[in-house]
Amino acid sequence: MFKGLYIHVPFCIKKCRYCDFYSVTDLSLAEKYTKAAVRNISQITDKFDTVYFGGGTPSLLSAEQISEILSAVKIAPNAEISMECNPNSVTENYLKEIYSAGINRLSFGVQSFCDTELKMLGRLHTAEEAIAAINSAHSVGFENISADIMLAVSGQTKESLRQSLDVLGTLPLTHVSAYMLKVEEGTPLSRDKRLLSEIPDEDSTAEMYLLAVRKLESMDFEQYEISNFAKKNFECRHNLKYWRCEEYYGIGPAAHSFVNGERYCCPKNIADFISAEVQGKVTLENGGSESEKAMLSLRLTKEGIAAEKMSAETAKNAEILVQKGLMKKEQDSFKLTPEGCLVSNQIIIFLGIMP
Ligand code: SF4
Repeated sequence: MFKGLYIHVPFCIKKCRYCDFYSVTDLSLAEKYTKAAVRNISQITDKFDTVYFGGGTPSLLSAEQISEILSAVKIAPNAEISMECNPNSVTENYLKEIYSAGINRLSFGVQSFCDTELKMLGRLHTAEEAIAAINSAHSVGFENISADIMLAVSGQTKESLRQSLDVLGTLPLTHVSAYMLKVEEGTPLSRDKRLLSEIPDEDSTAEMYLLAVRKLESMDFEQYEISNFAKKNFECRHNLKYWRCEEYYGIGPAAHSFVNGERYCCPKNIADFISAEVQGKVTLENGGSESEKAMLSLRLTKEGIAAEKMSAETAKNAEILVQKGLMKKEQDSFKLTPEGCLVSNQIIIFLGIMP
């Protein structure tokens, strides 16, 4: 089985208000970063059938830099090669170039099609720019395009969410990730009392999530993970590796790896990443335990957990959740319902599958 390769590109023009991902705004380091990424990737002998440029903002690298990094990767046939893009950092020409370089899946950080929400989040693009970028990507040949949207952001209403989803339904998308806003400690959002007070309460958040699930399903985006929806056969193969507890390498500062049963990460320091012959490694924990596998597969709403892999006690508790409408049993597997997805952490505890 091939492993996945994640490449963390730690550059952003400006930090969004809610974000705590590792990134820097000094774009002059991009060339040195590229060389370091190539150096590290060249040392790996494995072939990859999924490659994922995440960030940060990978689309801040030039098409030549993306191409240089990709030429160091040993790519298996029919590999999925994804790249996250910000709508305001791509031109049609750039999209053509990265398509020629081998990128075959794009993931746009759209977040909302409502300009006031985008402003609140500190995003640099408008709804119109996001629409134009997605259409442009499709017109240059991309057939696998995803958009991220956010739920329960400050000031969002069911109506504004419905409008965003309506726009999304008109675009040539094959995949949608719908994440709930999480207030991360240390971010500007976490210190902004007004914005915090405008975050929808728990009940409204639950309603928005269920609205998104139903609306996306009515547009043929089938839910396959708590926050992910895809048209038939367009599930993100790279992210499926995470949830199926399969192995992957992570390159770049803050990137995580799971190799030979060990989970580790590269420290969040771009200067060290650039100067080191081999990127740093901080061991996190051993991965791949049965309970970790069960916990991750619970996230997969189409696959779920096979009943035969559950202890008698866990299966008995899962049956109780079926009665409550929080799980369903199909083909001898227990799967979360959309209502169950809303309380997945409590369900993990109730089922006794905490790693
Ligand atoms: S959300 Fe994306 S673009 Fe915004 S700061 Fe975080 S990584 Fe950068």
